[in-house]
Amino acid sequence: MSDNINQPANQTNNPKNVQSLTQPLTHDDIRNFVPPTHCLDGKTILVTGAGDGIGRVAALTYARYGATVLLLGRTSSKLEYVYDEIESLGGKQPAMLPMNLEGATYAEMQQLEGLIDKEVGQLDGILHNAGVLGQLTPLEMYDVDTFAQVMKVNFTATFMLTQALLPLLKDADHGSIVFTSSTVGTHPRAFWGAYALSKQAVEGMSDIFTQETQNTTNLRFNCVNPGGTRTNMRAHAYPGENPMSLKIPEDIMAGYVCLMSDASVGVRGQVVELQPKD
Ligand code: NDP
Repeated sequence: MSDNINQPANQTNNPKNVQSLTQPLTHDDIRNFVPPTHCLDGKTILVTGAGDGIGRVAALTYARYGATVLLLGRTSSKLEYVYDEIESLGGKQPAMLPMNLEGATYAEMQQLEGLIDKEVGQLDGILHNAGVLGQLTPLEMYDVDTFAQVMKVNFTATFMLTQALLPLLKDADHGSIVFTSSTVGTHPRAFWGAYALSKQAVEGMSDIFTQETQNTTNLRFNCVNPGGTRTNMRAHAYPGENPMSLKIPEDIMAGYVCLMSDASVGVRGQVVELQPKD
C-alpha cells in the first residue's frame, strides 16, 4: 500500500463518473484536519461499538459536525446514553441498532440494510470500530474458542456487515468505509494472537475492496490505526501503564472526521496512523 498519497481513480470504463482529485491529501493532512463546522451535514454514518471508548466519541463527533449517526453496539444501555448525549448537544436525531457482532448472522445484517433503507433512506459511511482484545498469550496456548470469537467480532462480522450494507453505500455520492486496525495489525507481534491476526486481515480486506471497487464506484475504503488511546481496551492490554500518559479519544478525532468528510474523496486503500511515532 502506498503511503501519504491519494490514488486517483482510473477514469476509463467509469459508469458512475468516479471521483477525481483536485489536490492530494497526505496522512499528515488527514491527522491534522481542521473540520469545517458543517462538513458532515446531510450524511448518515453508522458507527459500530458506538457505546464506549473511541466509538462513542466518534459518534458524538460525527453528530457535532452535522451527520445523522446510527449507533450500533451490543449494550443497549450504553447506546441509550450516547443517544441522549447526541440529543443534548443538539445533533440530528440518531438511531440505535443493538447488535452483538459475535453472534449476528448475515440474514440479520441484510435485515438491517433493509431497515436503514426504509427508515433513513441512505448510508454514506461506516466506521467499523467495534473490537475485542482476546488473550495476550502465545499461539501455542491460545484458547481456540476465544480465537474464533475475536476473529468473528474484529474481522468476519466486519466483512459481513460491509457486504450487507454495500447496496446502500454504493448509492451514496461518496461512500466511505473506515476500518480500524492497530499497530500489531500492520506489524504482528508475539503474544497478540488473534487480535493481531484479525487486524492484519482487516487491512488486507480494505486493500482488496479498494482494488475491486476503485475503477467502477465512488466508494473508498481506508483503515485507521488510532494508536495508544485511553480506553477500557487499552487498560486491559497494558495494565501497568499510566493512563494519564495517553491521549483521549477526543484528541484523535480529526482523522476520523476527515476520512468521513468529502475532504478525503479520492483517498483510497490507506492505513492512516493517527499517532505516528517520530
Ligand atoms: P473499547 O473496549 O473501549 O470499546 C470497544 C467497543 O466495541 C465497545 O463499545 C464494545 O461494546 C464494542 N464491542 C465489543 N464487542 C462487540 C460485539 N460483539 N458486538 C458489538 N459491539 C462490540 O475499545 P477502544 O475504544 O479502545 O477500541 C476501539 C477500536 O480501536 C477497536 O477496534 C480497537 O481494536 C482499536 N484500537 C484501539 C486502541 C487503543 O489504544 N484504545 C489502539 C489500537 C486500536 P460494549 O461497550 O458493549 O462492550
